[in-house]
Amino acid sequence: MRLILATSNQDKIKEIQAIYQNLKDNLEILAWDVLISPFEIEENGQTFQENALIKSKSVFNALKEKNLLTQNDIILSDDSGICVDALGGKPGIYSARYSGGDSQANLEKLLTEVAKLPNQTSSAYYCASIGISHFYGDFSTHGFMYGDVIAHKRGKNGFGYDPMFIPKGFNQTLAELSDKEKNSISHRTIALKRAEFILKSLLFS
Ligand code: IMP
Repeated sequence: MRLILATSNQDKIKEIQAIYQNLKDNLEILAWDVLISPFEIEENGQTFQENALIKSKSVFNALKEKNLLTQNDIILSDDSGICVDALGGKPGIYSARYSGGDSQANLEKLLTEVAKLPNQTSSAYYCASIGISHFYGDFSTHGFMYGDVIAHKRGKNGFGYDPMFIPKGFNQTLAELSDKEKNSISHRTIALKRAEFILKSLLFS
């Protein structure tokens, strides 16, 4: 069976491959752009869940239309982002588009906004919603990771906003933790582990 990832984000693909290491005997995990030329998907949902399902359904329909899918294939998407409490939940679902530039520009913009806050810090959380599309239907899960954001960067690991996010119970930023440590607590891991119940039901149905 194939698990087709509806994302071209190499950082997400790397994390999903590592988190689903245990499924590799039963599932071939590949990115959608191996099968089809990537096309623009308009993420016009109001929530992470809506956007995750928009992505998984769009890729499912495109592959189905081209007869590139079998009953055994599962499409999986990830819509995620960071929500900063003192900024009213921003950037939230707009995390990838916060500055209008690349992920470095997004990080710099959030650092600037957090630096303007009275204590130059705020509680914050990451959210990941996983969308799953299959011939049997569409499904979704969520995962959250709580912590604080700070107004400066620390560490080189991870991606996106990781250098400014300190998970609850830690002193280091996510970018100072190893990949293994991040994957043991992350929003993405929690959402993917919940999604595993759905994948196993589809795999063994
Ligand atoms: P999406 O591709 O529309 O789901 O947007 C995801 C964006 O949220 C990424 O581009 C990052 O800016 C941010 N993001 C999501 N998950 C993470 C993470 O684990 N670490 C750092 N940034 C993240």
